[in-house]
Amino acid sequence: MRSVIVGAGIAGLALAVELRRHGVEATVVEARYPGAGNSSRNVGRVRRMQLTPDLTEFSCRASDKWTRVDEITGGRNPLLYPTRYVWVLYGEDEREVVEPMQPMWDEHDARARVVEPSEVLSAVPVLQGGQRPVGGVIGDAAIVHHDAAVYAYYLFAREAGVRFEIGVRATGVEVTGGHVSGVVLADGRTLPADAVVNAAGGRSGEFARACGVEIPNSPIRREVLVTEPSKPFMTPAVTFYRPQEGWFNQTLRGELVAGVVDVDEPFGMNEESSVKFLGRTARVVLEKAPRLAELRVIRQWAGVYDTTPDKRPLVGEHSELPGLFALNGWSGRGILLAPLSAELLAREIAGLGRDPLLRSFDPNRFAGRDSTVTAHSDYYSGYAH
Ligand SMILES: Cc1cc2nc3c(=O)[nH]c(=O)nc-3n(C[C@H](O)[C@H](O)[C@H](O)COP(=O)(O)OP(=O)(O)OC[C@H]3O[C@@H](n4cnc5c(N)ncnc54)[C@H](O)[C@@H]3O)c2cc1C
Repeated sequence: MRSVIVGAGIAGLALAVELRRHGVEATVVEARYPGAGNSSRNVGRVRRMQLTPDLTEFSCRASDKWTRVDEITGGRNPLLYPTRYVWVLYGEDEREVVEPMQPMWDEHDARARVVEPSEVLSAVPVLQGGQRPVGGVIGDAAIVHHDAAVYAYYLFAREAGVRFEIGVRATGVEVTGGHVSGVVLADGRTLPADAVVNAAGGRSGEFARACGVEIPNSPIRREVLVTEPSKPFMTPAVTFYRPQEGWFNQTLRGELVAGVVDVDEPFGMNEESSVKFLGRTARVVLEKAPRLAELRVIRQWAGVYDTTPDKRPLVGEHSELPGLFALNGWSGRGILLAPLSAELLAREIAGLGRDPLLRSFDPNRFAGRDSTVTAHSDYYSGYAH
């Protein structure tokens, strides 16, 4: 069996490695270079706790999978380090949303618990003197160095016999008798394939449309800033979701990385950094942690989230075009979710059946539905479906 994967990000590379384990031939087509997309533009957080049972169950298994990525990539170290996260709550309504989730988290071994404001402030002392939290969720997490992980997968994929077509764009698929039979490249060649996988990240909607399949994915820009390093002053990764999605953590090198979302950010492919982002992030983060004002920003970058209306990925075969598979729509969680999703999709492509863990990631679930994209400014409402 021959497969072609479009996109050499964490998703495409992990899938190529997993397919080789099943003896499936794999070619990865990459328009730029491996890791050029969001897999080198993120902050590498791997968190067990999520807001729904399906995502929590999957994320716990996906977090466990990350601890085995070194074995899967031939002993290479993806620089995964265990830490905690503190999800800081600033409104009583937020507490009301998360408190009933405790039994669900316990059932799935999410290793997360709702805590009082005093515990939040002692876990993250830098929040003292800032906006007063009403509580928080503290739990186990990890941070992976995304570039190390991408490179580990890329090197191992080459060793495992995966072929690469780098610097050439896939423009669509060839269809024979109603089934995908190849990938068409921008240089005029066609690569024969029994299975074609759309792992094109922020361009997955664009590539699906080029294949004649409509998916509701939309890219939206997310930006990050990095400060000069300082002495260690916090270990957990901090997140807050209201009124604006924002987060910060200190890296092992002592830098602070931070980002705050613009609630008016338009959907679309945009990987450009903005000055506006710096002002917004400084203002919002300093309201929460005024002591961080001493740190100077030394660099910034931007990437996109490939979002879906229910903030769950698309993993599986498109029923309207047999042979075309989706591995996309991560909605900001691809580092966490992609390695396990790739393992399960590889089994499906190799004919070993569909794993029940993928039940809410069916790429055909939006057929016939009004797939209006959820307002990205309100994190919780994305889970109302
Ligand atoms: C600022 C930011 C912070 C993030 N933080 C986290 C986090 O903490 N934890 C987490 O789990 N996730 C996080 N994410 C999300 C995560 O980075 C992505 O979900 C993940 O990298 C997606 O990987 P991918 O392989 O699907 O896509 P990508 O890495 O984007 O790779 C897709 C590749 O496809 C190529 N491509 C596209 N179209 C074509 C074509 N037609 N032909 C050939 N090649 C093509 C692109 O060039 C690209 O290299 C973050 C994202 C951003 C932007």
